Amino acid sequence: LAPLHNPGAASGIRAFKELLPDITSVAVFDTAFHTSMPEVAYRYPVPNRYYTDYQVRKYGAHGTSHQYVSQEAAKLLGKPIEETKIITAHVGNGVSITAVDGGKSVDTSMGLTPLGGVMMGTRTGDLDPAIIPFVIDREPEMADAERIRHVFNKESGLLGISEKSSDMRDIIAGKNAGDEKCALAYDLYVDRLRKYIAQYFGVLNGADAIVFTAGIGENSAEVRASVLDGLTWFGIEVDPEKNVFGHVGDITTAESAVKVFVIPTDEELVMLLEQCRIGYLAKDLYVEADWSHVLSGGEQQRLAFVRALIYQPSWLFLDEATSALDEETEAVMYKLVETLMPDTTIVSIGHRSSLSSFHQIGLFIDKGQHSVIERAL
Ligand code: AMP
Repeated sequence: LAPLHNPGAASGIRAFKELLPDITSVAVFDTAFHTSMPEVAYRYPVPNRYYTDYQVRKYGAHGTSHQYVSQEAAKLLGKPIEETKIITAHVGNGVSITAVDGGKSVDTSMGLTPLGGVMMGTRTGDLDPAIIPFVIDREPEMADAERIRHVFNKESGLLGISEKSSDMRDIIAGKNAGDEKCALAYDLYVDRLRKYIAQYFGVLNGADAIVFTAGIGENSAEVRASVLDGLTWFGIEVDPEKNVFGHVGDITTAESAVKVFVIPTDEELVMLLEQCRIGYLAKDLYVEADWSHVLSGGEQQRLAFVRALIYQPSWLFLDEATSALDEETEAVMYKLVETLMPDTTIVSIGHRSSLSSFHQIGLFIDKGQHSVIERAL
């Protein structure tokens, strides 16, 4: 379904399985955040059998990023995420826009595959489907699924129009140097982004904020300004002093009816929560609460592993740190630490014999002799 990503991911998983057979593999699906979309958003108006027989529907992508930045935006808005309506724009080499209502994805621009939606670096985004048979009539060699996939995924978008580059920096440089194809590529790109954002004001019936993230969204004040220039009707008022390279957070004036935030995405943090089996807490990352009373002992222990994996200390002392976990989850936590923190020395204190298998050296207290015995494990 994702021809640019899935083959690479699958060969990586196979290689790890072969070379590191004892290491647990964890897959975090970029489509998971979009499973909350209503049927009206995820179905296509094609014969029902395409859906029932082949599961042809919208799955979306970049879910981890949309989830993370919408939570950050709710924090900046100072409101519980349940009370927010946010349009998130992940604008990188791949581009997707999501309508997030109360913290849940209710529509997103990428479709069955990441080819749908907005124009991208090398992908078309949405097209009139009649273009495919029209081109096949004129170029019979295009009557080949792989050929079509290749042209629309790898030879289109900014690259297809500019005939120069898929990199926005090159497109902007070309445009500024008077290259008309680069200028057209830029204008088409901005136009498609703006239309999708405007569309989601309709899906959400208004929005509190728009978020820009990823390579272009975070770094290009010029693209943001061009897109937002055509959305002033919605009450968006950009502050040119804030909409500059390097500024993170709100880029609008105090009077702006809709806030626009630049938020660097952090898909890794959401993935770590998922890997430590508390992915469902990602939506609460910015909720202040008496967490030691809200979370179970096991959840608190898994959260502690997430913290360790973020901070990557050189030494990690784990004092009964898995006492509330079952042995299988304990093994997953230790495998994660071992895999993701290969240079860290881990010292565990505990009564469980299962801990031995994760360490090389054991220190055992001999109460009778009042001594400590060192043993290789
Ligand atoms: P990503 O896929 O999120 O890594 O984003 C890659 C895209 O970000 C490429 O098209 C880059 O040209 C673009 N990008 C990175 N920095 C800048 C910048 N300062 N101005 C414009 N585009 C940028």
